[in-house]
Amino acid sequence: MDQEIEKVKVLIIGSGPAGYSAAIYASRAGLSPLLYTGGQPGGQLTITNDVENYPGYPDGVMGPEMMEDFRKQAERFGTEVRYGLVTSVDFSSSPHVVTVDEQKLIHADTVIISTGASAKWLGLESEKKLNGKGVSACAVCDGFFFRGQEVAIVGAGDTACEEASYLANICSKVYMLIRRDEMRASQIMQKRVINNPKIEILWNTETDEILGEEEVEGVRILNNKTGEKEEIKISGFFVAIGHEPNTQIFKDYLHMDNAGYLKTVPGSTKTNIEGVFACGDAQDNIYRQAVTAAGTGCMAALDSERYLAEKESA
Ligand code: NDP
Repeated sequence: MDQEIEKVKVLIIGSGPAGYSAAIYASRAGLSPLLYTGGQPGGQLTITNDVENYPGYPDGVMGPEMMEDFRKQAERFGTEVRYGLVTSVDFSSSPHVVTVDEQKLIHADTVIISTGASAKWLGLESEKKLNGKGVSACAVCDGFFFRGQEVAIVGAGDTACEEASYLANICSKVYMLIRRDEMRASQIMQKRVINNPKIEILWNTETDEILGEEEVEGVRILNNKTGEKEEIKISGFFVAIGHEPNTQIFKDYLHMDNAGYLKTVPGSTKTNIEGVFACGDAQDNIYRQAVTAAGTGCMAALDSERYLAEKESA
């Protein structure tokens, strides 16, 4: 038996700040959007604790609670939120065809991609256990909780350098754990960390284990040249070894950079395919903040609304 194909005007893929903001705007515009949450409903913010830099919450808010609020606000205006993972797309014709959980087919006049990015992790058990309890992949989000304390950061790219400098403004000391004897970061960023007296760079250094039961108390490091292990006391452990945008399923259709971030027309959320818009971290490897993601989510809904209006009046 042929399965019934559902038809929607706006399909939103992803449920972080970008996706829900797009949903709030699209539903208030009467477009009855359908939103699929993806594998991590609420997105990256559901694995953070306090969010203190999102405007409008003077006392801060817990990440999962904030995303619950985003969802409720989107549903209030008629967004249908469904649990499910988009597993493939066909953007070769209009309407666009999207497959959910490898079986359900949806025809969408417009698609808003807000699939986000995922931080890369070292893969240690202790890193998983202490995630949100001193282990973080975002210095701008969580650095403040370690003000006046000693912390460590892993990585040697531009992000790690930028975050180490950021942490040095807040924390009493920052250990930078670098696995080789050189950095990948641009010269100017390298200089900034090397010249910062609050940053101690440990070359040829890998993380053997993050220490602590309920919260981070230290890190055992391994010098991969000498084989020596050493324990240092810290209360925050930051991982800055890159992010991976969740854009694999679009690779046959959408233009992306070498790292897989979707390309959009500057000043808009338009992709190279008509009626397909991208917002949030899936297309932003620079700012990566909840508030910037929400902003581009709003843009995607407005772009999509305009596109539909132009199509109808054509
Ligand atoms: P990068 O991929 O550039 O760097 C990742 C770093 O993490 C490398 O130093 C790498 O080490 C290290 N690393 C990877 N895996 C491990 C591991 N398992 N253990 C220890 N270390 C590890 O990622 P970034 O996020 O830094 O940057 C992404 C892009 O964004 C880059 O193009 C960057 O230039 C850009 N960017 C620009 C900024 C700016 O201009 N202001 C700010 C931030 C990012 P190794 O070198 O040994 O491989």
